[in-house]
Amino acid sequence: MFRWIMHIDMDAFFASVEQYRNHPELVGQAVCVGHDPKKGTGRGVVRAASYEARAKGIHSGMPVSQAYRLCPEAIFVGGSFENYSIASDEFMEILREFADGGSVRRASIDEAYIDVSEAVQLYDSPRDLALEIQEEIRVRTSLPCSIGIAPNMSVAKIATGMNKPRGITLVGPDPLDVEKFLEPLPVDALNGVGRKTTERLQKFGIETLGQIQRMTIPELWPAMGRGSVWIHRRARGFDERPIIDNGPRIRKSISKDRTFMEDVEPENVNYLHESLEKMCKRIGDKLVNKALRFRTVTVKVRYSDYSTIQRSRSIPVESDDTSLLQKVAIDLFEQKRNHNKSVRLIGVKVSQLTEVSEQLCLTEFM
Ligand SMILES: [Mg+2]
Repeated sequence: MFRWIMHIDMDAFFASVEQYRNHPELVGQAVCVGHDPKKGTGRGVVRAASYEARAKGIHSGMPVSQAYRLCPEAIFVGGSFENYSIASDEFMEILREFADGGSVRRASIDEAYIDVSEAVQLYDSPRDLALEIQEEIRVRTSLPCSIGIAPNMSVAKIATGMNKPRGITLVGPDPLDVEKFLEPLPVDALNGVGRKTTERLQKFGIETLGQIQRMTIPELWPAMGRGSVWIHRRARGFDERPIIDNGPRIRKSISKDRTFMEDVEPENVNYLHESLEKMCKRIGDKLVNKALRFRTVTVKVRYSDYSTIQRSRSIPVESDDTSLLQKVAIDLFEQKRNHNKSVRLIGVKVSQLTEVSEQLCLTEFM
C-alpha cells in the first residue's frame, strides 16, 4: 500500500470568504481585504487579494494606496477575523471526515494535511478522492481550494501550489517521478527553506533542488552544515513525518492595531492614550466573549519614519480585566516611547491565552 498525503489549501482564503460567503455580488471582481484606500490617500496594507485583484498585480502586504493605483476599481472590504475562523473550522471539519483516523494537521487557518492512504482504497485513483473533497468543501463552505497529493507532506505542499486556484496536482507514487517533479524547482520551493538559506545556497552556486539531488552530503556540508542531511532528503522527496492531529484550534493571541489617518505628533499624548484604551476595551470585550484570559500584553508603536518598536509584559495571574489591560498597555507605551517622533500606528496584543474553564478562578477563594 502506498502512502498518500493530501495538502489542502483554500484559494485566496480571506478574499474568497468575502466573495463567496459574505458578498456574493463581489464574485468575479477584484476584491481586497484591507482598509479603505481613500482614492489613494488611505493607509494600511492589503491583507488578502482575490485572484481577480492579483491579476492586476495586487498582492497581500502591499500598501492599499499602491493597490488603488494599480486597480482603482478594486473593491476594498474591512473583513472580520471572526468570519474567517468560522469558515476555517468548517473546512477542517470536512477534512476530518475524509482523513484516515480522522486526523487533520492544521498548518494555518486555511491549509491542512491529511493522510488518505486508506481512504483512497475506495476510489479508482487518489485524484478522484481529491475531486470529491474539493466538491464537498465547495458545496458546504462555498469556498474554492486547491489540493496536492503526494507520498508525503513536503511534496504534497509543493504540489498544491502548482495549480492554483481550484487545482488538483498529483505527484508520485514512484520515487523517480517525485524526484523528477522536484528537480527543476528553486531551492526555496521547499517548506522550511527561507530567504537566508536560499542566499547561502546561492553563494555556493546552488539554485535548484536538482543540483542538491546530484550532490553528496559531504559536498553539501560547506553550504548547509548540520542542515545538509535534511535538505538532501527533502530535495529528493523524502519526508517520513506522520500526520499528527493538532487538536481544536485555540487562538494564540488577540490583537488590534490602528494606522492613523495622519501621523500623530508626540505632544498629542492624550489622543494616543485614548486610542490605546479603546483598542484594549475591544480586546477586553472579546476576551470576555470567548471566555479567555491573557497573561502577556504587547504594545507596538510605528513612527512616521517606519521604525517600529515592540514591548511585552506578562502579568502574574491570568486576567480578562479591561482596566488592567489598559493600565499595562499605557505603561508599556510610555516606557518605550520616543518623545521626538510622530506616531503612524499603534497596536496592542494579548497572548498566552487560557480558557477560563481550564483554570482556578482566584476570586472564588478570596
Ligand atoms: Mg491559501
